[in-house]
Amino acid sequence: MSSYHTGLVVPLAPLNDAPILAERAIRELVEQKLIRPTKTLDCVFGKAGGYPPGPRVSSLYEFFAGEHRYWDGKGINGVEVYSEPYINLWGSTIRSTLECPHCRCSFHSDHYLWSYLARAAGQFLQGNYEAKVDCVECHVANEARRWRTEPHLGFCFLAFEFWGWPPFSSDAWRIDIPKLISDAIGYEVAETCGRT
Ligand SMILES: [Zn+2]
Repeated sequence: MSSYHTGLVVPLAPLNDAPILAERAIRELVEQKLIRPTKTLDCVFGKAGGYPPGPRVSSLYEFFAGEHRYWDGKGINGVEVYSEPYINLWGSTIRSTLECPHCRCSFHSDHYLWSYLARAAGQFLQGNYEAKVDCVECHVANEARRWRTEPHLGFCFLAFEFWGWPPFSSDAWRIDIPKLISDAIGYEVAETCGRT
């Protein structure tokens, strides 16, 4: 069975501030009892571990009859926080559109431009934050992080992956988690997702 995450990326958070901003967001999520304060290694994929769901989260989501109990704590079910160069690697498995930030030309999910973006993602993770991808339509070299993709691929320094959590855009939520985090850190956040 595949696992999925609902993600939040913070495109404008500076690299140097990312660790302190991550701490603020974690503190807020712990205070709201949405996550537990202590990391475990088996609730996420990353080797650094993640935060298991907190005791209050189920009560802040309106389940429809028979809906999957998202926070049963079984398997991969925790929050992974990144305060470092970040690419939403699991987003490329469900990619749909890629749009040039200059000419707005849109490319489909199996267009070879995606492989150029993947190469730029590798360069970004190695420290080349201005890695560029040439548009095959308008021939402008655009920074990889400015290409619009569905889902959002990150190219940022602060991100959160909520493994096994339903999308925050769902009407079933009684709490606005993107706003909660955005208010705690003082930067806008964007929702994304990924699947193994
Ligand atoms: Zn273009």
